[in-house]
Amino acid sequence: MPDSRPLSTIVIVGSSVAALRAAETLRQSGHEGGITVIGAEAVMPYDKPPLSKKFLSGDVDADRIMLRRPEMLEELRITWRLGSAAVSLDTAAHEVRLADGSVVVWDGLILATGGQVRTLPTVPMTGGVHVLRTRDDADALRAGLCEGTRFVVIGAGFIGLEAAATAAQMGARVTVLEGAPAPLVRGLGAEMGAAVAAVHARNGVDVRCGVSVTGIVEREGHVRAVTLGDGTEVEADAVLVGIGVTPAVGWLEGSGLTLRDGVVCDANLCAGVPGVYAAGDLLRWPNAMFAHVEPDMRVEHWTNAAEQGAVAAQNLLAWSRGEDQTPYSAVPFFWSDQFDARIQFLGRSHPDAEVTVVAGSTEEGRFAATYVLHDRLIAVLGVTMPKMVMPSRALLSVPTTKAQALAHFERLKNPPAPAR
Ligand code: NAP
Repeated sequence: MPDSRPLSTIVIVGSSVAALRAAETLRQSGHEGGITVIGAEAVMPYDKPPLSKKFLSGDVDADRIMLRRPEMLEELRITWRLGSAAVSLDTAAHEVRLADGSVVVWDGLILATGGQVRTLPTVPMTGGVHVLRTRDDADALRAGLCEGTRFVVIGAGFIGLEAAATAAQMGARVTVLEGAPAPLVRGLGAEMGAAVAAVHARNGVDVRCGVSVTGIVEREGHVRAVTLGDGTEVEADAVLVGIGVTPAVGWLEGSGLTLRDGVVCDANLCAGVPGVYAAGDLLRWPNAMFAHVEPDMRVEHWTNAAEQGAVAAQNLLAWSRGEDQTPYSAVPFFWSDQFDARIQFLGRSHPDAEVTVVAGSTEEGRFAATYVLHDRLIAVLGVTMPKMVMPSRALLSVPTTKAQALAHFERLKNPPAPAR
């Protein structure tokens, strides 16, 4: 392959799960050269899912959420460049420039900078107003939560609902404000989003949908209330703005890479420049298994980041060795724990999908549902129904009609009696 080249130093930009899995895969696949990991935060890789759950409540401490033990990280022989974000990329000179002015040179590059939180222009980040993306964010939010705290969450997405559940369990009085008609509309659709809202309502959380947040009332540098479009106020001691993330690609402006709500990659996760690959929340790629739902997609969940980190590393090495690369094609998956409900979702939702409850019921808060688009199964949702979700993964990777899917769930509900 004419444009392949030996790789002396591979630089990974980002220091979360996608980056770590990339570094591990490079070593497992025989890369003996240098690996440099650049991270904006001055901490070794830690796991983000607990930040809105057990780490937020204080049930687990910082040591318990590290992604790997120190001796395991040492074995990877990584040069860590932590505490200074990448600010620009020069693909011709093979250089990444950092915020501290230093320059890191690469032979192969993996982009894994994830997402960055969105804030609301009408809600200044004054005392008591929080976002939740990093360990420091979670520490700051925990310090503002206690028994009786009036906690207002803006945005009923994953961060907002998980933090709302955790705070309610810590004794806070929680209100969730969502602009859409139901929580999690983009991920689950309106009907199933409403079923998740009911889980919160049953646990004393006041979930208000279809509201617009116009600003806050602030006194002596601290938030006192959130103001709504109808002129009312919701009193607040602490506020979390959880209105989504944007892909962290600002530092790639001017690099020549194609940016369209993420860095645009091919099926092998190559970012369009030989030797440059990407993994995790920041990339958009054609997922062949779901081409019937979306021509290309960006996925903001843990499993995707971990798997793509491994594939990006393998394909970078394959390219350098002139070997065949492997396209990344997968059934997206996420889970979310809220109160005693475990939400699991396989596949991809679509605004036109026909949603059918196939087991349990939304009333009892324990159910499974199928999502079908043009008579093809595109997703399966389970709320506290683990035995219904994971056995359905194979159905989502091949064309499966609605009738076939319903028959599958009937078999799962009524398994044949074991032969004597
Ligand atoms: P998110 O899941 O995208 O949800 C943001 C929510 O805020 C959406 O419902 C959105 O509605 C709503 N919203 C947007 N603007 C608003 C406004 N002005 N007022 C009120 N509501 C507004 O993002 P997130 O909850 O902030 O989570 C951040 C990231 O962490 C995401 O990438 C998420 O996937 C990830 N995460 C994942 C998990 C998990 O997999 N279990 C857990 C935590 C976090 P629209 O959709 O209508 O814009």
